[in-house]
Amino acid sequence: MTNYDTENIFAKILRDEIPCTKVYEDEHALAFEDINPQAPRHILVIPKGPYVSLDDFTAAASTDEIAGFMRAVGETARRLNLANPGYRILANIGQDGMQEVPHLHVHILGGRPLGPMLKSDP
Ligand code: AMP
Repeated sequence: MTNYDTENIFAKILRDEIPCTKVYEDEHALAFEDINPQAPRHILVIPKGPYVSLDDFTAAASTDEIAGFMRAVGETARRLNLANPGYRILANIGQDGMQEVPHLHVHILGGRPLGPMLKSDP
């Protein structure tokens, strides 16, 4: 497992040490509102296991954990009625991905047309 920091903010949310606005939870994942939303709906979905990013998650997690996590992403979006008209998922990984919190999270963004995927200049 890759140098997982057990004091990262999402680990504290999983341990109920700091609050979140929960929108979905099951045995594999927790989904909650992003504290600084970038769209009318901006939800983060995190696995319950200690994975820094999608990189070590896909290398080290069990098939059950991976399937359960991806199902939770889809289920969260359906519960928010985002499947139609649609939404975007995004996962930042590492330095070039500009990942801030070192616990894997998938952003679900929606609630309005989201425009192009990337700005042309960083
Ligand atoms: P990333 O840049 O992909 O690592 O995204 C980290 C996200 O976590 C940002 O969108 C933050 O707004 C969000 N965030 C940070 N702290 C919290 C928190 N306590 N509760 C909810 N979202 C948070």
